[in-house]
Amino acid sequence: MHFQNTLDCAQQLDQQDPLKEYRDKFHFPKVGGKDVIYFTGNSLGLQPKNAKKYVDEIMTDWAGLAVEGHFQAEKPWWDYHERFSEKLAPIVGAKPSEVTVMNTLTVNLHLLMVSFYSPTSKRFKIIMEEKAFPSDQYMIASQVRFHGLEPDEAIVEVKKRNGEHHFRTEDILQKINEVGEECALVLMGGVNYYNGQALDMETITKAGKEVGAFVGWDLAHAAGNVELNLHDWGADFAAWCSYKYMNAGPGNASGCFVHERHHGQKDIPRFEGWWGHNKGRRFLMEPEFQPEPNANAWQISNAPVLALAPYLASLELFEEAGMAVLIEKRNRIVAYLEFILQEIAREVHCNFEIITPQERGTQLSVFLHGQGKELFHYLMRNGVVTDWREPNVIRLAPAPFYCSYEDMWKFGQVLKDYFKKE
Ligand SMILES: *Cc1c(COP(=O)(O)O)cnc(C)c1O
Repeated sequence: MHFQNTLDCAQQLDQQDPLKEYRDKFHFPKVGGKDVIYFTGNSLGLQPKNAKKYVDEIMTDWAGLAVEGHFQAEKPWWDYHERFSEKLAPIVGAKPSEVTVMNTLTVNLHLLMVSFYSPTSKRFKIIMEEKAFPSDQYMIASQVRFHGLEPDEAIVEVKKRNGEHHFRTEDILQKINEVGEECALVLMGGVNYYNGQALDMETITKAGKEVGAFVGWDLAHAAGNVELNLHDWGADFAAWCSYKYMNAGPGNASGCFVHERHHGQKDIPRFEGWWGHNKGRRFLMEPEFQPEPNANAWQISNAPVLALAPYLASLELFEEAGMAVLIEKRNRIVAYLEFILQEIAREVHCNFEIITPQERGTQLSVFLHGQGKELFHYLMRNGVVTDWREPNVIRLAPAPFYCSYEDMWKFGQVLKDYFKKE
């Protein structure tokens, strides 16, 4: 269908949307009594309405069963986390045995670096992107220092070219080949939080493996957003948070991927705990650690079941809808949003620039030349929730589960009014 900047066109697109019933499965905050237009599913996804039921189930089991709940609850707590693997595997392109859920994202990246960053005098460098998400910068620098190395020497950043807003695959590959045998680890954000760029993870993973490095991915902005094939790409590990596109609630647990080639090893460097111990023998309380034969070997503590409940609720929706349909809608709704932005720019002559390249997920980052923060506040007052990143970027992420084409059109009208008033 040919896009038009009209309510009629937007409503027709909504009519054709195979995910249109999903909007009603989420709670929307309201401004002036009306559901907001929510562009921040890349920061905190909306609450699925079925999440409360999953939490209540655990509260009820805890009240009625207490300790017996570990084994007698409807969904027993002692292996509650194992319910996630089957559901997460297709989202990240892994075998269920390669996926587990535990802790939180930065913590998991630290734990995975224990296994996949063991620098030697010859091979000690880490390749990452410049201006990565701050937590990743702190995490990697502190790991490097922990090994007695200097971040300046051990961390190699891939930079954007002058005047460009995105990374070029060829520059990343060149850096990997240049560092070559000194490269211990390539660890990057699969989708960049700032410009919304989806990196060519397959090509980069292959290049990293070819120089003999480990390759890991921070998928905070990628999981539930873009197509992932971690197993086939041959990535060594990955981790993601569940509260962005995965709608699992604030601060909720992180998903992890460890490639099966690393499973079943007793001598791999790893911080261990009883929840990673052979499931059948866990309660025999034996002195020697026997790893689970899969990614669960990286588990440490018993699972935070109450926290995990909304994540499980959310994954039910992913399972039902399927990533392929989500990605198809994502492509269309982002294209429509881009079209609307271009139409408004033409109509009111405003000065902004979309810095997200075509290799992208559902986020468009809009660079404003002047007065960005005022626009951000104006949008908020008018029921459009976006987010602001220094120095002058507004990020718009229409999550395909619950954003409508009509939202995109309405947003365009609010934007137009703002620039007209100026
Ligand atoms: C959101 C995000 C995080 C957040 O880390 P937490 O440990 O969950 O607080 C880390 N890295 C990236 C790239 C992110 O986008």
